[in-house]
Amino acid sequence: MVTRVRQAYEEIIQHIEHVIENSDIAQRRKPVILAASKAQGVAAIYEAIDAGIRDFGENKVQEALDKWPEIKENHPHVHLHLIGALQSNKIAEAVTLFDIIQTVDRVKVADGVMREMQRQGRNVPCYIQVNIGDEPQKSGVPVAEASALIGHCRTLGMDIKGLMCVPPVGQHVAPHFALLANIAAAHGISGLSMGMSDDYETAIRMGSTCVRLGRVLFGERM
Ligand SMILES: *Cc1c(COP(=O)(O)O)cnc(C)c1O
Repeated sequence: MVTRVRQAYEEIIQHIEHVIENSDIAQRRKPVILAASKAQGVAAIYEAIDAGIRDFGENKVQEALDKWPEIKENHPHVHLHLIGALQSNKIAEAVTLFDIIQTVDRVKVADGVMREMQRQGRNVPCYIQVNIGDEPQKSGVPVAEASALIGHCRTLGMDIKGLMCVPPVGQHVAPHFALLANIAAAHGISGLSMGMSDDYETAIRMGSTCVRLGRVLFGERM
């Protein structure tokens, strides 16, 4: 059955191939397409898995706990990423459930995640979220403190897979993506989780390795 999600996914794959062919980053690997499934029911997530999507992102630990244990049992090969803010009191559950945590953004969270991984004997690759526009209300480590946090995480022995950002709404995104790529390069970090429905083409041109797509895959959220 050709579902809406499958059709959207296939169009996005073609579009990404087109973007890569028509830019000077032809040597780069295609980014992972992560389906941002917040506010989506389990049925829509199964449709996305049937369409071939293997990476999913949830924003809230509690919502993920409600939806994902059953899905993961049926589809153990799917990777679940945490892409929303991580509160200290949710760290233990997050380390148990998620395969990748993209939102380490302060020392307290880094320390807690490392402690839980050791306690649970589980290695969960982490990204550091950078508040790339230094917006007061947004999560992510401030740009000026990113290097220090990366250093702290490495001292702990944390496996930092990448950096992640959500740029300010209503601004040109390219300078923000370029800044994130620069910070990553300066620290020898290869993963760049950047690009959402409205700006993933730009993010790919700037080196994204993981685009997080909600609306273009699932339709507008209710
Ligand atoms: C919701 C969300 C996305 C996807 O946003 P769309 O604009 O629907 O593609 C990506 N990243 C994060 C952190 C989100 O919360």
